Amino acid sequence: MPDTAFMSIIEHAPRAPLAGTKLQLNRTYGSPEDYAKAIEELRAAFPAEDVSTDPAVLEVHGRLQNYTKSFPHSVVVVPRSTEDVVRIVNISREYRMPIVAYGGATSVEGHFFGTDAKGICVDMAAMNKVLEIHEADSDLVCQPGAKWTDINAMLKEKGIPLFFPLDPGIGASIGGMISTGCSGTNAVKYGTAKGEWFLNATVVLPSGEVIKTRRRSRKCSAGFDTLRLFLGAEGTLGLVTEATLRLAPLLPTRVAVVQFPSVAHAVRASTAALNLGVNLQCIELLDALSMRALNAYNTGGTRAWPERDSLFIKIQGATPVFIDESARILRDVAERHGGTGFEFARTEAEAEELWSARKNAMHAGYAMFPGAQAFGTDVWLESSPTLKMLAHRLLSVPVSRLPELVTTIQKDVAAAGLNAPMIGHVGDGNLHAIVIYRDEEEEKAARSLVASMVKHALDLDGTCTGEHGVGLGKKKFLVEELGESTVELMKHIKQSVDPLNLFNPGKLYPD
Ligand SMILES: Cc1cc2nc3c(=O)[nH]c(=O)nc-3n(C[C@H](O)[C@H](O)[C@H](O)COP(=O)(O)OP(=O)(O)OC[C@H]3O[C@@H](n4cnc5c(N)ncnc54)[C@H](O)[C@@H]3O)c2cc1C
Repeated sequence: MPDTAFMSIIEHAPRAPLAGTKLQLNRTYGSPEDYAKAIEELRAAFPAEDVSTDPAVLEVHGRLQNYTKSFPHSVVVVPRSTEDVVRIVNISREYRMPIVAYGGATSVEGHFFGTDAKGICVDMAAMNKVLEIHEADSDLVCQPGAKWTDINAMLKEKGIPLFFPLDPGIGASIGGMISTGCSGTNAVKYGTAKGEWFLNATVVLPSGEVIKTRRRSRKCSAGFDTLRLFLGAEGTLGLVTEATLRLAPLLPTRVAVVQFPSVAHAVRASTAALNLGVNLQCIELLDALSMRALNAYNTGGTRAWPERDSLFIKIQGATPVFIDESARILRDVAERHGGTGFEFARTEAEAEELWSARKNAMHAGYAMFPGAQAFGTDVWLESSPTLKMLAHRLLSVPVSRLPELVTTIQKDVAAAGLNAPMIGHVGDGNLHAIVIYRDEEEEKAARSLVASMVKHALDLDGTCTGEHGVGLGKKKFLVEELGESTVELMKHIKQSVDPLNLFNPGKLYPD
């Protein structure tokens, strides 16, 4: 029998349901005079070269590389230390000026764009140092502007046989990777930023306080994990100024390629191989249309790819014997699931040649439709419908539902009379669908196609954003995906950490 006193407490406890709260985050900021004073104070606090209102600098900091449309901020500041960041945050608070961190600028949902309120763009480029390397502990401490590619190149150069396995866009920085909860092709083996690859982070809060989420020990059960608050928070809760990264052993890899009668066959083969414990680092799906694009793109090359649904696989192993054995098991599993044409790179040069096809797949997709547009995030389309896009829908579903998602999307694409090459991090159930359109009418069809893709992914217990975060582009799907109470909980946390809504306002939380 339940304790009656306890039941009485529960029954009479005040309830404050989150659903229906509709918390409004602040949208009132300083006046133009306040902003001018803030910029004056920034100029007084920092060397001249670290504070810029030059329109060319503002323009670059408000747009993605290779795109024309910019969403500029009022001023760009380049801090060099945590103390500098605290100074900027205190000025931002005093003059009610929004503050947006800028890392590698590879995020694709308008995460770092200026909004109507404009404000201070904090460019972390000068905070790019690796501060400590602990080889014996397989970790390192670095500043937020350090890029994952530079970190791995530096470890290689020093002959340290370790690497940081999260691999989003080339040029992504550690601060941006934490803030978008990133992943990449290695996720099937190493998981995502939301795993334990970041042991701790030093963060400047909107109050100007500096916190370190925990110490460097591999394990820690001291309370809940405050680092997780900042993983995927998109710079809305704090500015990361230092982090400890866990490293993995750098193992030799080889590449294999195999074709299947359908995406379903390919997915089943990859799941079977993973469940057998075959040591795979990446399993990437290119659908038949992407393979056709590869042939069209490689017109100067000698290789003619079979235009069938294909898996590109990186096999990992401590020694060649391990890799050969894994390749043998993989080939066997693939053939049991209808795989044909299994090709295994015997040398590094062959591996590089095969994997470069996977790397070129996206560009091949665009090259196949010269002059066409590819569907980007909604934010760019709504801002500038004439832009040529390089981004795409990135959906994710439980792995076993991926074939259903692909089949449904393929049917919808055919019914809409459009083309949409698909590339997937198939071991994670993660799919890039690149919807190509040529004119206004096709754009309309593409828009409704993309909306239906998101719906299909949600219906299959998936997500509208497997790895690119929310930013401006995906806000409108958040309540449907997560539920009103979960979104309100996020907003309540935001409100308590940043009551003035100064940190990256307008992003992530639905309006
Ligand atoms: C070609 C290409 C391929 C990609 N592939 C992948 C992929 O496979 N997987 C994947 O996950 N993503 C991928 N991305 C997306 C992108 O690389 C990731 O989202 C990446 O994590 C962004 O890091 P960044 O340094 O570029 O962040 P930015 O774009 O600079 O910023 C992203 C967000 O983080 C915030 N931020 C930046 N630094 C800090 C900081 N120090 N403190 C607090 N907030 C901060 C910004 O304000 C912004 O909200 C790809 C992008 C491109 C262009």
